[in-house]
Amino acid sequence: MTTAKPKLAMYWAASCGGCEISLANIHEAILEVDSHFDFMFCPCLLDTKKADIEALPDKAIALTLFNGALRTTENLEMAELLRRKSQIFVAFGSCSATGGIPALANHHGLHHLLDTVFQTAPALDNADNIIPQVTTAVPEGDLLLPALLPQVLAVHQAVTVDYSMPGCPPEPEQIVAVVRHIASGAALPEAGGLLGCTDRAVCDECPREKRGILTKRLLRPCQAIPEAGWCLLEQGHLCLGNSTRGGCLALCPTVNMHCTGCYGPLDQTSDCGAAALSAMAAAVHPGDTVGKDEAVVQNQLRSALSGVADPLGTFYRYSLAETVTNCRPEVER
Ligand code: SF4
Ligand code: SF4
Ligand code: SF4
Repeated sequence: MTTAKPKLAMYWAASCGGCEISLANIHEAILEVDSHFDFMFCPCLLDTKKADIEALPDKAIALTLFNGALRTTENLEMAELLRRKSQIFVAFGSCSATGGIPALANHHGLHHLLDTVFQTAPALDNADNIIPQVTTAVPEGDLLLPALLPQVLAVHQAVTVDYSMPGCPPEPEQIVAVVRHIASGAALPEAGGLLGCTDRAVCDECPREKRGILTKRLLRPCQAIPEAGWCLLEQGHLCLGNSTRGGCLALCPTVNMHCTGCYGPLDQTSDCGAAALSAMAAAVHPGDTVGKDEAVVQNQLRSALSGVADPLGTFYRYSLAETVTNCRPEVER
């Protein structure tokens, strides 16, 4: 007699699809996943319908990997549905865990976003000035679209999340390790904790040599080719490895790319961007300022920091939904 395997679901909300690609990148280990779980819901790969999920008893799904942030009412509805139907609900990837790149939109009101996307973007072709509406009447009846939420939310800001798996996307090796761990029935961290990462910084996993040198100025990636084997930050490249949680084995610095912080902040960090900014400031020495005129010092500082072309997108790339300063008043259409 065969025993039914526990059910596994994966869902994308406001997402780029990269988290599903990362799952696909586990290659033949997908057979191991299949041996442990009945992979029964994943709109990117399978044709299971929402109604099939609604028909399941509550807690019928053993494990849901929920990727993407919450941008629309549909995202929110699916998060609530899958939370109800799942024993273990994992916020999978930076967008889901901390709002990720979609949450950079929180810097603007909905009115501004819709105007930019549908009316003022330079490459736009929208002669009839059409802006999508929640309800559009056509001869056959009403067409419905999900409404935009006032702000992009990390999933834990709307439903209870058992665990978060950071990364943009989580690394395939970490996905396999987490699935194995859960399938084995081994003890899991305290509810609300993290899976698939370490509690050390990316710098601790990075093979590049730190020489104890402060950089005179921060650089844009296009401004210099980094010297091989030497810490990128000490060479002026905006590497956030010292304020970012490890688990990716320093993937980006290993291939000459600065860490952009996708595995999120280390423990005890209440504001990811502020922590990254502070770590970066500690790595720069803009030159001697003693006894110099204030205007000269300001110029020195401006020049040292001129490589930070987009401070918000640099320091809050994955975490704007969670920043303690996220209090912009919303402007409704
Ligand atoms: S975490 Fe990264 S890979 Fe995953 S959906 Fe978001 S942007 Fe895409
Ligand atoms: S700052 Fe970046 S390059 Fe330097 S050691 Fe840390 S992770 Fe490696
Ligand atoms: S090095 Fe940084 S940006 Fe690259 S995968 Fe690791 S945490 Fe993410």
